[in-house]
Amino acid sequence: MSSYETGRYAEVIIDIAYNKLDRPFTYKVPERMQKTLQTGSLVLVPFGNGNVMRKGYVIALTDECALPPEKVKEIAELPVNDSGYSEDADGAVAIALAAWMKRQYGSTMAAALKTVLASRKPGKPVKTREIELRLGWEEAEDQLAVYVRKHQVARERLLRELMEVPRQPYSLVTEKLHITAPVIRAMAAAGVIEVVEETSLRNPVTFDKEAAEEKELSRAQKAIVDGVLKDYDAGQPSVSLIHGITGSGKTEVYISIIRGICERGKKAIMLIPEIALTYQTLLRFYRYFGERVSVMNSSLSDSEKADQWERARRGEIDVIIGPRSALFTPFADLGVIVIDEEHEGSYKNESMPKYHTRETAIELARMKKACVVLGSATPSLESYDRALRGEYRLYKLSERLTGGTLPEVEIADLRQELRNGNRSILSERLQLLLSDRLTKGEQSILFLNRRGVAGFVSCRSCGSVIKCPHCEVSLSLHKNGRLVCHYCGYEQPNVRECPECGSPYVSAMRAGTEQIEEHLKMRYPGARVLRLDADTTSKKGSYDRILSSFANREADILVGTQMIVKGHDFPGVTLVGILLADLSLYAGDYRASERTFQLLTQAAGRAGRGEAPGSVVIQTYQPENYAVQYASGQDFEGFYKEEMKYRSLLLYPPAAHMLCVQIQSPDEDKAESFAGRIRELFTRDDPEALVIGPAKASLSKIRDQYRYVIYVKDEKYDKLVRCKDRAEAFYAYLIRIGKDPQILMQFDFDPVSPF
Ligand code: ADP
Ligand code: ZN
Ligand code: ZN
Repeated sequence: MSSYETGRYAEVIIDIAYNKLDRPFTYKVPERMQKTLQTGSLVLVPFGNGNVMRKGYVIALTDECALPPEKVKEIAELPVNDSGYSEDADGAVAIALAAWMKRQYGSTMAAALKTVLASRKPGKPVKTREIELRLGWEEAEDQLAVYVRKHQVARERLLRELMEVPRQPYSLVTEKLHITAPVIRAMAAAGVIEVVEETSLRNPVTFDKEAAEEKELSRAQKAIVDGVLKDYDAGQPSVSLIHGITGSGKTEVYISIIRGICERGKKAIMLIPEIALTYQTLLRFYRYFGERVSVMNSSLSDSEKADQWERARRGEIDVIIGPRSALFTPFADLGVIVIDEEHEGSYKNESMPKYHTRETAIELARMKKACVVLGSATPSLESYDRALRGEYRLYKLSERLTGGTLPEVEIADLRQELRNGNRSILSERLQLLLSDRLTKGEQSILFLNRRGVAGFVSCRSCGSVIKCPHCEVSLSLHKNGRLVCHYCGYEQPNVRECPECGSPYVSAMRAGTEQIEEHLKMRYPGARVLRLDADTTSKKGSYDRILSSFANREADILVGTQMIVKGHDFPGVTLVGILLADLSLYAGDYRASERTFQLLTQAAGRAGRGEAPGSVVIQTYQPENYAVQYASGQDFEGFYKEEMKYRSLLLYPPAAHMLCVQIQSPDEDKAESFAGRIRELFTRDDPEALVIGPAKASLSKIRDQYRYVIYVKDEKYDKLVRCKDRAEAFYAYLIRIGKDPQILMQFDFDPVSPF
């Protein structure tokens, strides 16, 4: 890569969300910039007739110019230059990656560049805020005894942490340890701790290197580390998938692989879904990599992020940990990208470009000759399928190294409950176990998996669900009382009785966490109940407050949505109830079963993290459903085989690829007729093409925008890319001839959540 090339002209993509301008414009490079300007640099340029200053990205530097030189304007400024942050040996790769994303996912070049180069923002030196222990060891022990005696749980917890690692970042303490600001202030006022603020480019964390304790890897762990490094040393960096249950030692393997890569002088990107990024995990990395590791997450400000990226660029760190955006950390000599919980939906970017982090990471690794390690207890079907085909190396870890037992999982048949006259949301079994936990003073979590719920209609007597006869996904009940398929647009009137068994108990399921909370308070008047959902967490800081209160055992029962499933270990929890497994089972899209299997498996894993063994109760109207069955047996293989049969039969990913063209307009007729024209376009080009729809999107109107979808399925991804190109060209043509369709068109390849 000729990243240090210079030239008298620069090709610049203007940072503007307007398709028509999504092409490079040529600018003169002023003398003073000829040494510093590089591909990937962010610049300010005069644009248009009024010479309004706009941001742009340099995508190429040349000495030639096709235009008459007097017509070419000059770059005005390198806005990032002052801070010295523009230096970027990696710009050429970033631009190649953006170009790949544009082609692969459909977006403007400007949007793709913005995603990849987001880090090249000007950054001011930032203040770091840390909490430091002010007591010596013996004083600290005395103080600890006082906190224990006074049951000051939060203070006790913070003090214990600081006695292990005496100086820790403020944000980690508040967010991951769930210690609130008043507690910190009180402890500071008492002289136990001090809040230290410094202005520098330093790591957001300090650590205690002595605390790093070497673990001898098990044979299975060692085989993975050796395998990955051997491929790497042979000059054939591989993609590996580690399928290992929670607690089987995956993180330990990641750390060893990253150490091996760092010993070879290369750098590592460690991706973890934001919600699963626990304090404990971070600490483990700090203990091994100390000052050479840094963390990215959404609680950092833009300039703090820029700071971390700057440190990466200067080679001051070896490892960055963070959610999907950390993938774009500008390491010049990247050696490995690790993606933990690789099945997680948050790895799909839901705004343009709608890229998948896993695919993009693999492409970036290919460009950089780096290896990729994926890990999960419930791998995505995509990854498992490729691993079985030999495209990825498959490794398994099947034992829990800490000995903790997997919880016992029971299924409660809600149809039977109905027959027994129990119409409450709690099965008899769950009621019994809840009372038991309350008397023992143990904690319980009740989980309502509402993600992606689309108002499906089901029978409470036999459990069957009304499905689309063409797409095998559940139909959604609309306000007008009709049942609609969000893939193909099929509609029918709502049913009054069950088509399978004739029972009149057919209805849409609309249970909410609030009703459940009410119900619990009524049934167990003495119990302390907390609720965690979108409503109770809308205020800043409330999410942490609720979780810390539960962690401090200030409540007996936590009721919540999928927000509570991940990342947080509550050793006091010995019972997990999944109130209605069916809710996510019939979300109306082809991934509903997979998501349910993952959620159930993970929710079950929340129980029994401490010493007491845990119980899990899954309530459902469909106890025989395979996702429920395999989840209760913690049988991933079984689930995979069964689910692949369904995907293959209906050509859903990963058996084939699927493109969703999303069309929005404030004018419903325009949206619908444009969608119809796109359909025609696809079928005219290729009469055999598997085009489905147009249909109303599952969220058919948002903020006065009507939303339509068209799906195309094909085994060849490239064919879908051609469809996308065709649709884009058609749109551009309409603009050119002055017939602006006044719609917004976006693309989603292999969608992860319904539009
Ligand atoms: P996962 O990432 O799969 O959940 P971890 O790497 O967090 O698993 O390991 C689970 C627990 O087992 C941790 O407490 C870890 O310290 C411990 N552990 C991991 N590998 C070993 C090992 N080789 N020897 C002893 N303990 C280990
Ligand atoms: Zn029925
Ligand atoms: Zn359908």
